[in-house]
Amino acid sequence: MNVLPLTHPGKRRPRLTLLALGGTIAGKANQSTVYAGYQAAVADISEVLSSVPELSGVADIQTRQLFQVASQDMASQHLLALGKEINVLLSRPDCDGVVITQGTNTLEETSFFLNLVVRSHKPVVVTGAMRPSTSLSADGPMNLYRASVVAASPQARGRGVMVVMNDQILGARDVHKTDTMTVDSFKAPLFGVMGLVADNVCHFYRSGIRCHTLDSEFDISETQELPKVDIVYGYQDDDRALLDACVESGSKGVVLAGAGTAAISARLVPAVKDAIASGVAVVRVSRSSLGLVGHNVEFDDDVYGTSSGDTLNPAKARILLMLALTRFSSRASIQACFDRY
Ligand code: ASP
Repeated sequence: MNVLPLTHPGKRRPRLTLLALGGTIAGKANQSTVYAGYQAAVADISEVLSSVPELSGVADIQTRQLFQVASQDMASQHLLALGKEINVLLSRPDCDGVVITQGTNTLEETSFFLNLVVRSHKPVVVTGAMRPSTSLSADGPMNLYRASVVAASPQARGRGVMVVMNDQILGARDVHKTDTMTVDSFKAPLFGVMGLVADNVCHFYRSGIRCHTLDSEFDISETQELPKVDIVYGYQDDDRALLDACVESGSKGVVLAGAGTAAISARLVPAVKDAIASGVAVVRVSRSSLGLVGHNVEFDDDVYGTSSGDTLNPAKARILLMLALTRFSSRASIQACFDRY
């Protein structure tokens, strides 16, 4: 097992900071068995924490309510503020790890962004809940407990940002929200779980080898704004109107979520050429939930100047393209990012 030097060499209790962003883990409904009409992001962090008194047995915990939003309302300004805050916290010797509670709807994006911008080997764990806090068998309290066990564990160092849901430890690059409702929604179908949390112990089985955290070249310390990147979905009858609208509205990059191996319809090809000619980076990913989009497969990237997005889903490819565009503009460099991260 890959064990890096201990954060807290067994001499003292781990110290964690819990950053609360809102979501269903802080949500409430009028009935314990009906979600219709429930509201996300209502309970503040002290209320969420009060449902898990067992956490005091895991670590000394500081809390901060950074935002109180449903995660579909998050934007790149939230991500930048969150990433900067975490980097400051982790640079301090009195913080051994960070746990983030946020809505599950866009949790994949937040965790992958942090995986690329956190400058530390200390554990960063993102969690949430599929059921509001008022539900029968709410999953939030146990998810928060398990996430804290992982963040407090020396074995969790150096593995990149992790998502802990439903007793599983998932790598931020690999995790997908696969189901709209069920508590086992978060999975890593292509590459598998990184580990499991059983009782109070985390068991690791694998780590991703794509670059992350300290190996990443993305430094957001001075970044005030991320470039505008949009997603265009491919389908029978698609036409160039949406891609043109992205370019006209100032997108610096577009992720094309094409059918199958990110095929692009003949109807869209002229718009792709025009977008690239006007300096917009275009990355192809698949609208299928799983699989590799390889270079020049189903579309001649070398002829048209597009990049292939590897196994990233459209939302994650958008995160990487925003960061890539903070440093690079050439297609070769953007493609290299998709090959590396
Ligand atoms: N339904 C979402 C959740 O599971 C709401 C959100 O993403 O904020 O947290």
